[in-house]
Amino acid sequence: MSMVKKSPWVLHYDGSSCNGCDIEVLACLTPVYDAERFGIINTGDPMQADILLLTGGINSQNQAVVKQLYDQMPRPKVVVAIGVCACTGGVFKECYNIIGGADTTVPVDIYVPGCAARPQAIIDGIVQAIDLFQKRSDEHELLMKNKGKKADLKTKENNNSSDKGNEA
Ligand code: SF4
Repeated sequence: MSMVKKSPWVLHYDGSSCNGCDIEVLACLTPVYDAERFGIINTGDPMQADILLLTGGINSQNQAVVKQLYDQMPRPKVVVAIGVCACTGGVFKECYNIIGGADTTVPVDIYVPGCAARPQAIIDGIVQAIDLFQKRSDEHELLMKNKGKKADLKTKENNNSSDKGNEA
């Protein structure tokens, strides 16, 4: 795992799972497997979250909720689909109300396979997500800096042209 400058906040949402993967994620986020030792913090607030952990498939009832949670998260953000249901729809794929995996609704960055996903695979997915989040944060910071420089340059140009206008 590369150097992490900020502790990413993690939000977990359980879609239409059988609760198998949901329980494994909870075990990973609590002291049983203690994923917090990698620097993450569990939160229930999407507006504070950096990493979204999704379990279960997408159905017509939860699709809007998943989309809204994703949209409420600030940029940069990372999405992890945990368990085969979140990856593809899994064993429920052919059910009348299942739309599919999480990527039918939000962009998924990391896929954690398994039914249920094993804790070591979930932790591996979280560590990959932390790495990716750090990379995106660095890119975002650079982008913001460059935008700031461009804005400064524009202000200077505007000031110069208004100074010239005053002189004339
Ligand atoms: S992948 Fe398996 S354990 Fe996980 S939610 Fe689906 S059916 Fe349940």
